[in-house]
Amino acid sequence: MKYDAIIIGSGQAGNPLAYNLADLGWSVALIEKKNLGGTCINVGCTPTKTMVHRAQVAYYARNAARWGVNAANVSVDLPKMFAQKDEVVLSFRGGKQKQVDKRANLRTSSRAREFCRSASTQGWR
Ligand SMILES: Cc1cc2nc3c(=O)[nH]c(=O)nc-3n(C[C@H](O)[C@H](O)[C@H](O)COP(=O)(O)OP(=O)(O)OC[C@H]3O[C@@H](n4cnc5c(N)ncnc54)[C@H](O)[C@@H]3O)c2cc1C
Repeated sequence: MKYDAIIIGSGQAGNPLAYNLADLGWSVALIEKKNLGGTCINVGCTPTKTMVHRAQVAYYARNAARWGVNAANVSVDLPKMFAQKDEVVLSFRGGKQKQVDKRANLRTSSRAREFCRSASTQGWR
């Protein structure tokens, strides 16, 4: 199987390139060794901002009196925050999977070496 483009990495750079080339009719292979979405969605911007937002809410609640608001017994449920962060990450990653799934000429693989071997002998997987 021949591809018009093989893109290594499905982060902020690889994803839009893969989508745009596929939308132009190219057959595209997107190789991602970890998780779709790359650094930003999985371990960078998204989880960081999700946790920072919760820290900000806790800060406001604990210092509410500064703004004339009475908020007693403020506590932080860290496991719940982490679970919510994971939920957001999974949701965003799922969004990337949907973007891939709706393009028949865009395929993903997690292993470049095996992908290239199978691509030359068996076609798409
Ligand atoms: C904690 C943190 C917070 C951040 N917050 C922000 C923010 O708020 N705003 C902002 O603009 N930027 C932020 N960034 C930076 C942002 O995440 C990066 O700029 C962006 O992810 C870079 O995109 P990329 O596609 O170049 O690389 P990446 O997103 O890193 O994607 C590269 C992908 O290639 C894959 N890969 C690498 N080698 C191979 C291989 N041999 N085979 C297969 N796959 C491979 C990797 O697994 C990875 O998924 C943050 C980064 C971090 C770490």
